[in-house]
Order: sequence, then structure tokens, then C-alpha cells
Amino acid sequence: MVSIIGAGPAGTYSGYNLAKQYDVKIYEEDKKIGEPVQCTGIITNNLPKDIYCEDYVLNKIPEAEIIAPNGKSIFIKLRNKNLVLDRVRFDNFFADKARERGAKIILNKKLLRLRGNELIFKDLRIKDDFIIGADGPYSRVARDSGLFNKRKFIAAKQARLKGNFNEDLVKFYLGIGSFSWVVPENKKIARIGVASNKDLNIEFKKLLILENGKVLDNQGGIIPFYDPLIKISKNNIFLVGDAATQVKATTFGGIIPGLIAAKEFSKGFKNYEFRVNQKLKKELMLNLVMRKKLDRFNDKKYNELVELFSQEKLRTIIGDYDRDFPSKFVLKLLVREPRLFKFVP
Ligand SMILES: Cc1cc2nc3c(=O)[nH]c(=O)nc-3n(C[C@H](O)[C@H](O)[C@H](O)COP(=O)(O)OP(=O)(O)OC[C@H]3O[C@@H](n4cnc5c(N)ncnc54)[C@H](O)[C@@H]3O)c2cc1C
Repeated sequence: MVSIIGAGPAGTYSGYNLAKQYDVKIYEEDKKIGEPVQCTGIITNNLPKDIYCEDYVLNKIPEAEIIAPNGKSIFIKLRNKNLVLDRVRFDNFFADKARERGAKIILNKKLLRLRGNELIFKDLRIKDDFIIGADGPYSRVARDSGLFNKRKFIAAKQARLKGNFNEDLVKFYLGIGSFSWVVPENKKIARIGVASNKDLNIEFKKLLILENGKVLDNQGGIIPFYDPLIKISKNNIFLVGDAATQVKATTFGGIIPGLIAAKEFSKGFKNYEFRVNQKLKKELMLNLVMRKKLDRFNDKKYNELVELFSQEKLRTIIGDYDRDFPSKFVLKLLVREPRLFKFVP
């Protein structure tokens, strides 16, 4: 028997992969799958093929604009269009897939404590053979099993705006917070957001001024920094997704890395940690190192960086590769433009 805590995409996709072999139960504290939404939902087109579906895709974006603090920008054609997800539909699609394979999802059931392999809920205590913590950044499973480590977080704030937007263009502003974005759902609505551990509200207002529109709703949340020292398994306990800090520290996207890790459960539990590290560690480490460097940039440095990337040869390299796997293009960039070395840690 397998108990999974958390019915976000990492939890339900793990359940989907394990339900072929095991009796799987997924416990979710919220009353509804996917709600409340605390995510912009832009991803690269790297979804595992077995769970790709057009129904949860709101928009496909072929181009990115990166804007320097001095207002200059570069445009990057994305060979693989980015997908904008309807997170509620996305999460429900995954939940249905897991159910189809026989997994049982129990809503409104919050894990209060984990003692050894005993799961303690308000009105239920059970022991299980395998336990998966897919319970997000503050993972109770990680905390109670000693796998939390000294993980760090960044706060993020986002809003849906009504206005006029180019539906074919995702924008990233450099120098606003640690990272900021404008992701169009369509011509009339965009999701804008900032991740920052300093003056989040002030940084968010800067973005609101730049992107004129009427705020329809606001959301926020926290995002874990990838922790390379974290262990994601211990005896019969495993972590996946945000609970395992599987997030790209450059863009703070966690959906694809979490799913890549969850896919590994299709091969069972044996060597799960080793296999996940082989797939993700190098890429997430590289993201983390780049983030540490970027967080020390001032406006002048960002302006210089954007200026360098105005060269078509560099823009083509970034557009040709997905940001999930920076190891595939960082070296290429450095070879094509040695002046980039001064931006590298
Ligand atoms: C503002 C914001 C914007 C973001 N934008 C993007 C983006 O555009 N693209 C991207 O790739 N990533 C984005 N992220 C990150 C992304 O949302 C996460 O990486 C992703 O949701 C992680 O999936 P998960 O399944 O691991 O965890 P979650 O989606 O957090 O799911 C965890 C689930 O566990 C449940 N849970 C928690 N504790 C318990 C408990 N004790 N008992 C039972 N259930 C529990 C929660 O209710 C939740 O349903 C964003 C994050 C934020 C905060």
C-alpha cells in the first residue's frame, strides 16, 4: 500500500505511475483539487507524453521578450512554444488519470503528523508500506521525517489583469524583484507576477505600473529554492515536487521538474533518489548557481547582459533549447560569446 500526501500535479502523477503496481491512496487537505490556484502556470513544452492534453492548455506562446531596466529589450523566438495552463483543469486532469488507474483520492484530509510510518489525521491513524510527501514547499512529511533540511524560500505575488496584451508574447522584466513575468492567457487577460524576498509589494507595484490593466484577482505563495543537500528518501518515505525542492531557481518553475521526478515512480521505489538525481540534479544546481549570481546584479549589469544578448547568434541558442535543461546551452553560449564569462559565477 502507498499513501501519497498532496494531490498537486507531483502527487497525482506519482499516484498515476504507481497505481499500476500498488494500491494507492492520495490524501489532500483541500476540499477541491487544484484550488485555490497559487501559480501562473507557464511551462515549457516538456510534459510527459502520456499525460499531455489540449484541454488544460489556455495559450501557446511562441516568443519571449526580456526587458532590461533601461527599457531596452530582446525578443526570443521559442522553438518549442511555452504552454499556459489552466491550473484547475490541469490538476484535475492528473487526478482523473490517477483515479482511472485505480488510485483513490481522499479530499479534505490533512496530514497532521507522521510518526515513523504512521500517518496521523484528525480522525484517522494508519500505517502504510510506502509514504510519499508531495505536500508542497512546507511539506509536513519532510518535516516529520527529518528530510526538511535548511531549505530556503522565496515569496511570490501574482495577479490576473484585464487590459490589452499581445497573446503571443511572454515578457520577463529584469531588475524587478528576483524575477518578474507577464504571461498572457489571451488578448484581454494576462497573469503578472513577481518573486522577491525584498519589498515584494513595492516590486509588484512597479510591474503593475508598467503593465496597465484592471486587477481581476490576486494570489500569492512561496516557492522553495532547490536544496542540493536535501535527501529525498529515507527508509520507506519519499519526497517529490516542491516538497523535494524540485524547482528551477532561475524562473521559479516547479511543475516540469516535479513531474520529471514523479515519472521515476513508474520504475518503482528502488533507487528512486539516485534516478531522480541523475535526471535533475545537474540542471537544478546550474539554475541555483545562476540565481545566486543574478541576485547580485544591479541594473547596470542587467543592461549589459541584455545588450550582449541583442546578438542574434545568442538569441537563437536560447530559443532553440528549453530552459528546463540549461546544461545543454550554457556552454554553447559561452563559446559563442566569451564576454559572457564575466557574468558567470
Ligand atoms: C505565485 C506562484 C507562481 C508560480 N508560477 C509557476 C509557473 O508559472 N510555472 C511553474 O512551473 N511553476 C510555478 N510556480 C511553482 C508551482 O506552483 C509549483 O512548483 C507546483 O505547484 C508544485 O507542484 P506540487 O504538486 O509539488 O505541489 P503543490 O501544487 O503545492 O501541491 C501540494 C498539495 O499538497 C497539499 N497539502 C499540503 N500539505 C498537506 C497536508 N499536510 N495534508 C494533506 N495535503 C496537503 C496542498 O493542499 C496541495 O494541494 C509558481 C508558484 C507560485 C507561488
